[in-house]
Amino acid sequence: MTCHELGGACDKTFTAATFDEIGEMSKAHGSEMFQKGDAAHLEAMQEMMTLMQDPEAMQAWFQKKRDAFDALPEDDSR
Ligand SMILES: [Zn+2]
Repeated sequence: MTCHELGGACDKTFTAATFDEIGEMSKAHGSEMFQKGDAAHLEAMQEMMTLMQDPEAMQAWFQKKRDAFDALPEDDSR
């Protein structure tokens, strides 16, 4: 899955066997970009922060991403 698909701002691809793993990778990448002061990622993160204030919306968002991950074929594209 790409950074973009996970609510980020670039086309960096994450490859992992589980959604939890990919979540961690995305998080690590996000804070790296945050430290670099990447404007696009900062903006994407702002949106995530807003989303997180609503636990139900956050749950729904998370479930959607998880479903998207589960729907991917079992190959290197995930
Ligand atoms: Zn990114």
